[in-house]
Amino acid sequence: MSGVASVLSAAWERTLDLVFPRRCVGCGAFGAFLCPACLSATPRAQPPRCSGCWMPVLSPAEGPGAADVCERCRTRPPAFKAARCPFVYAGAAREAVHALKYDGLSAVAATMAEAMAGCLTEWRPPVTALVPVPLAGRRRRSRGYNQSELLARELSRLSGLPVNGGLLMKRKATPSQALAADEAARHANVEGAFAVRPKAETAGALLLVDDVMTSGATLDACARALVAAGHGPVCALTFARED
Ligand SMILES: [Zn+2]
Ligand SMILES: [Zn+2]
Repeated sequence: MSGVASVLSAAWERTLDLVFPRRCVGCGAFGAFLCPACLSATPRAQPPRCSGCWMPVLSPAEGPGAADVCERCRTRPPAFKAARCPFVYAGAAREAVHALKYDGLSAVAATMAEAMAGCLTEWRPPVTALVPVPLAGRRRRSRGYNQSELLARELSRLSGLPVNGGLLMKRKATPSQALAADEAARHANVEGAFAVRPKAETAGALLLVDDVMTSGATLDACARALVAAGHGPVCALTFARED
């Protein structure tokens, strides 16, 4: 950003703060979208976790059954190589996702991306570009934006990795993953839903970006399409995951 642009953008942010003061999505306190108290009370997605999907696994200290890879990834290995996220989908992390996705609070994306950038710095996956999980046209139009794209853009600003927003597209609208009965239904919902745009792109190591990971079916379908088109390895970063 040029000097003038950044001064204007800071001025614009101050104006916005006067008109729409920042309030914590967790407790309503003024000053930030996620206040320090709510942030520290939100469960972090700490290890020991599956090296594939980042689901909690038993540590060797917890006795037999300890493993690097969870049962689900052993039975059905995902097309992405590894996934990470800073938070468990609970408390203020859940409120932030709801605010971004259902309440139209797009400005919270910058705060969410900061936590994701912290996670990325620690993790350092071998990727060269960010790919937001696309929305079908109808849902994007009704929301006005794609929340994954906003997160990817903010993350790009913080990490310096470029966003490749045109690479992946959603071919058809799919039922809400949150309403799917079980994991098989989630995979069935998104099977063949994503496609790589047919244009000459250099194959690359990519990081899929999304707000929440539930069963991982959506990220898996996206990674499958990218890998089939010659890209890879594909990793995934979300703001939170459902444990
Ligand atoms: Zn708070
Ligand atoms: Zn796993």
